[in-house]
Amino acid sequence: MDGHPVPVLIQCEDTGSFELDEEALEEVLLNPKIADKYVCVLAVAGAFRKGKSFLLDFLLRYMSSQQSQEWLGDVDQPLQGFKWRQGSKRETTGVLIWSEPFLIKKRSGEEIAVILMDTQGTFDIQSSMKDSTTVFALTTMVSSVLVYNLMNNIQEDDLMNLQLFTSYGMLAQEDCDSAHPFQRLHFLVRDWGFPYEVPYGHQGGQKLLDEILLVTEKQHPAHQEVRRDLRKCFRDINCYLMPHPGFNVIQKADFDGRLADIEEEFVNHLKVLVPRLLSPENLVKKEIGGQPIKARDLLKFFTLFMEVFKD
Ligand code: GDP
Ligand code: MG
Repeated sequence: MDGHPVPVLIQCEDTGSFELDEEALEEVLLNPKIADKYVCVLAVAGAFRKGKSFLLDFLLRYMSSQQSQEWLGDVDQPLQGFKWRQGSKRETTGVLIWSEPFLIKKRSGEEIAVILMDTQGTFDIQSSMKDSTTVFALTTMVSSVLVYNLMNNIQEDDLMNLQLFTSYGMLAQEDCDSAHPFQRLHFLVRDWGFPYEVPYGHQGGQKLLDEILLVTEKQHPAHQEVRRDLRKCFRDINCYLMPHPGFNVIQKADFDGRLADIEEEFVNHLKVLVPRLLSPENLVKKEIGGQPIKARDLLKFFTLFMEVFKD
């Protein structure tokens, strides 16, 4: 597999402030192969150590196999790409993108560049909400598919966090009068805990989502508002409920991500989930102000966002 993760939003160790690495971004987005193509930016966001990078590496495998039927490959192949293993070192905060963009041709003949984005943040409201907010608000702003990775269930806090991130993203799009400033939001629930009540997969996810996003008179006004806001912000909202990947994935000392060590049920769901996110017909173009934008223009929005975000 070609490529490597490129840090594009970096936190300065001394001051704690964030900086864009514009040169690194340019190198990816102004690549002549994609600079003048429309882009789909898929980002995975959520708390630490919940399998975000692990999932992204399966997305990478799918993209590098050119979305072939056999994309999962050999069962003994270690999983590579974005760094996903639990290290002993404290993880930093920031945003990374894959150095090699993928150019995908749809059946209509249209070509779309796909950028995969990983995020590292604490999501810890007490300790460093400001840091996480920069990371996740930027991610919300620049992505067209925001995969919101959650453990076990969707909680009220998760919705509140999202509302905060989207509110910053909206600031950067003040002059936009399109109905939905953002495109797709995809809740991804890992280790879904109640499969006998609501089944794994997309349909179960939709059912859960309908229940959670329902606005009722009995709810606290703030809870009603958060739900209305999310519906207003995103053009479509999906949810997928994933099973637990099995004992080896969390406990085996030398686990290297090979399929042979992962529960079959999890692998079967990967086979459904991954194409749902990235098959040619499911790609979502990044839009700003209701207009699809090209890779070259995306660069400007990163900078614009950073300006708005600075206080
Ligand atoms: P990130 O910090 O969210 O990027 O998490 P990583 O992708 O680095 O994964 C952290 C740990 O979670 C690794 O040891 C993975 O093997 C494990 N992991 C990956 N996927 C899952 C999952 O679906 N459920 C659970 N419980 N653990 C997972
Ligand atoms: Mg990670």
